[in-house]
Amino acid sequence: MTEAPVAARPVEAAPETLQSLNPATGELVAEFPIDDATAVATAVGRARAALPTWRDLGFDGRRKALLRWASQLINNADELSDLVHRENGKPAEDAFLELMLTLEHIDWAAKNAKKVLSPQKVKPGLFMANHEAVIERRAYGVVGVIGPWNYPLYTPNGSIAYALAAGNTVVFKPSEYTVAIGRYYVEAFAKANPELPAGVLSVVFGYGETGAALVKSEIDKIAFTGSTPTGKRIMAAAAERMTPLVLECGGKDAAIVAADADVDAAAEAIAWSAIQNSGQTCVGTERVYVEEAVYDTFLTAIRAKLVGVAPGSHDSASYGPMTMPAQVDVVRKHIEDALSRGGRALLGSTESVRAPFIDPVVLVDTPEDSLAVTEETFGPTVTVRAVKSIDEAVELTNASEFGLASMVFSKSSGMAIARRLRAGATSVNAPLSFAAISALPFGGVGASGFGRIHGADGLREFAYPHAIARQRYAIPGMALLTFGRKSSTVAMIKKVITFRHGRHS
Ligand code: NAD
Repeated sequence: MTEAPVAARPVEAAPETLQSLNPATGELVAEFPIDDATAVATAVGRARAALPTWRDLGFDGRRKALLRWASQLINNADELSDLVHRENGKPAEDAFLELMLTLEHIDWAAKNAKKVLSPQKVKPGLFMANHEAVIERRAYGVVGVIGPWNYPLYTPNGSIAYALAAGNTVVFKPSEYTVAIGRYYVEAFAKANPELPAGVLSVVFGYGETGAALVKSEIDKIAFTGSTPTGKRIMAAAAERMTPLVLECGGKDAAIVAADADVDAAAEAIAWSAIQNSGQTCVGTERVYVEEAVYDTFLTAIRAKLVGVAPGSHDSASYGPMTMPAQVDVVRKHIEDALSRGGRALLGSTESVRAPFIDPVVLVDTPEDSLAVTEETFGPTVTVRAVKSIDEAVELTNASEFGLASMVFSKSSGMAIARRLRAGATSVNAPLSFAAISALPFGGVGASGFGRIHGADGLREFAYPHAIARQRYAIPGMALLTFGRKSSTVAMIKKVITFRHGRHS
C-alpha cells in the first residue's frame, strides 16, 4: 500500500505557518498559524461549552440553524466556487456542483434528524409485557472531524452536517491543502447564526500533527475521511481513550461492463468517473472489467470519449491539476509499472504526466498484480481488462482489499450483479449516482473503512442508542428477577417456553 504523505507540507511553507498554494500556479492563497495541541484543546473546550445551547435548540431549532447556513453558502456561491477553484484547483463549475451536493446533504440532515433520531418505542415481548421499552438516541458530545482535500466541502460535510443535526458540536480539521475553504465553510455557519456560541462549529488548522492532537484530545467521537494508512494510524491512536470513530478511507473502485450493456453510455460514464477531478475521487473508477463480446467496442468508445478531454486551470478545462504535488509521483510510478509489465497505453503514456497536470491515461492488458490495479492511484488513469464472464468480473472486482464503491453496466442484470459486489455502494447504469442521493448511506468495507455518513445511517452514526426499560406495574407472583422467585413460577414458565420454542421442526 502507498504510504500516505501524512506530514507532507505544501512546498515553501515556513515551519511555523501553513501556506496554502494554488496547485496550478503555485500562488499563495492564504497563510495560517498552525494550531498545536494546546490550541486544539482550547477549541475542544469551546465546543464542549457550546453543547448545552446547541442541544437545547432541539431538532427544530437546529434545523433552522443548518438551513440558514445552507442559505449563507449558496448566496455566496460564486465567491466560494472561486476559492475552491484557486485552492483545490478544480474548475469553478465542478466546485459549484460540489457545493450543490453539499447543500443537499445539509438540507437532508436538517430535515430528517427529528424523524430518524426521535425516541422510538419497541415491543417489550411476552415476558416483559409489564414494561415500556424505548430507544432514545443521544448525541455523543464533541465530534472531531478530519477531512481530505479532494472534495473539500462535500466530503467533510458528510460528517459535519450529520453530526450537528444529531446534536453534537464539531471541531473540524481541514486538509492542509484546503485550509482556506475549510475556514470559509465554518465561518459561513457563524455568519448565518451569529447568536450561537462559536464552539458549535469551529476549525483548527495544521498538518497531520494537528489532526493527531485532535484525535488525542477529549473529543467524544472521531469522523475521519482520508487515506487508508492515515486511517489506521488514527484508529490506533483512538484506542488509547477508546474514542469511537467512523473511517472513510481510500478505494480502488471497479466498473463492470456486461455484454448486454449500452456500451457507449458505459464508456461515457466510466471516462468521466475515472478522469474528472484529475482522478482524485475516492469513489472514482480505477479498474474496468468488460465482457469479451463488447471489449473492442468499449475500447473504441472510451478512447473517443477522452480525446479532447484535457486538464488546465482555465475556464474551459475539463479538469484541474493534481492538488497534492506528492501524488504526481505515485501516478507516474503506477503508469511506469503497468507499461514495464506488459501493459499497453490505449491513450496517453508516461509523457502524460506533466506536473501539476496529468492528461488522461487508459491502460489495457495490465497484469492484475501491477500497482495500477492493486493500489489506489488517485490520478486520471484507468485500467481496462477483458473478462470471459460476469463471474470473472465479480471475482476480480472483489479481489481488492478496498471495498468502497463500484459501478455496473448491464441492461438486464445490473441489480443482480450489483448484489454480488463487496462494496459500500454501487451505481447501476450511471456514474456515482449513490453519492448524490442524500438518503443513501456512504462508506466502505475492508481497507476502505467502516461506519457511514449520509442518510439515516449517517445520522445514527453520530448518536448512540440509550435503551430504557420502565416497569409500568408489577405482575404478582411473576418476580423472576428476584431472590424471592418461586420454583412453581419457573415450572410454569418452563411449560410456556417449551410450547413457544419447541414446536419447530
Ligand atoms: P490523508 O490521509 O493524507 O489526510 C487526510 C487528513 O488527515 C488531513 O487533514 C491530514 O492533515 C490528516 N492527518 C494526517 N496524518 C494524521 C494523523 N496522524 N492523525 C490525524 N490526522 C492526520 O488523505 P488526503 O491525501 O487528504 O486525502 C486523499 C485520500 O482520502 C484518498 O485515499 C481518498 O480515497 C480518501 N478519501 C476517502 C473518501 C471516502 O469517503 N471514503 C472521500 C474522500 C477522500
